[in-house]
Amino acid sequence: MTAAPRRPLTVLLATPRGFCAGVDRAIQIVERAIEKFGAPVYVRHEIVHNRHVVERLKGLGAVFVETLSECPEDRPVVFSAHGVPKSVPAEAEARNIFYLDATCPLVSKVHVEAQRHYDAGREIVLIGHAGHPEVVGTMGQLPPGAVSLVETLAGAQAFTPRDPARLAYVTQTTLSVDDTGEIVAALKARFPQVAAPHKEDICYATTNRQAAVKAIANRAELMVVVGAPNSSNSLRLVEVAERAGCPRAVMVQRGRDLDLALAEGVTTIGITAGASAPEVLVEEVLTRLREHFEVTIEEVVVAEERIIFKLPAGLQHA
Ligand code: SF4
Repeated sequence: MTAAPRRPLTVLLATPRGFCAGVDRAIQIVERAIEKFGAPVYVRHEIVHNRHVVERLKGLGAVFVETLSECPEDRPVVFSAHGVPKSVPAEAEARNIFYLDATCPLVSKVHVEAQRHYDAGREIVLIGHAGHPEVVGTMGQLPPGAVSLVETLAGAQAFTPRDPARLAYVTQTTLSVDDTGEIVAALKARFPQVAAPHKEDICYATTNRQAAVKAIANRAELMVVVGAPNSSNSLRLVEVAERAGCPRAVMVQRGRDLDLALAEGVTTIGITAGASAPEVLVEEVLTRLREHFEVTIEEVVVAEERIIFKLPAGLQHA
């Protein structure tokens, strides 16, 4: 007996998707630190928000902790790509702990901006999500009270500055481009003198991944976002897909998480991946779909990314 032919399914593959330059650099810092110093190398917080990446690095000899107090003095510590408050390197120095900072250079750029505004006597609004490590890190660049967090449009409309003439804003790097645009517009309408970043704080990777999802959202009946529930940019991709016209968007961490019942009656699926999700996990989703459907892949490219960030001195291979 011959097996029934599999149903055709078109997969629209959003490009760019997955790893960005900051994530790539952060992972390489951990790998090379283990090569150079031997295991264990401690990592404060998930180096990037992806379980698969974390488990693989654990297998190589990384030990993940949430606070420096869990780290011994005689082993190197890596700070995650999201950035850390100034108190963290200060504590490491006080305890003579050797550290490597894997903060993405585009997050460091926001830190520098915030410092510049503070030095110029401005009150700073940080647009971002409370509790996210990047927000904790950016707020922790300056003394308590220097930075006020605004999370929503309503928050921007209700915000009362100390002096509207001495106000600036910065943002988290992984926000929704559209939502942030509305919040910024509200701030500018209320406080026309508010100082803005020279160059957008939402990073190129976040912007490109959202644009790629928008480009396929109205053709896809289902959008699958490969990512992690604590990954800000992955969560935004789910929202962006639905707002851009895709009837349903779901996040999966691995191929096996995909509920095939969702594909019932569906002829076109969109697939993307957050900036911390490796391509191998996208491959898992494709393999799962190929087991059940006759898959045709159409790659939809909205931008080419060639950005590479340098590794810290001492970790660069000869
Ligand atoms: Fe850097 Fe953007 Fe990647 Fe975050 S998402 S690590 S800010 S490039």
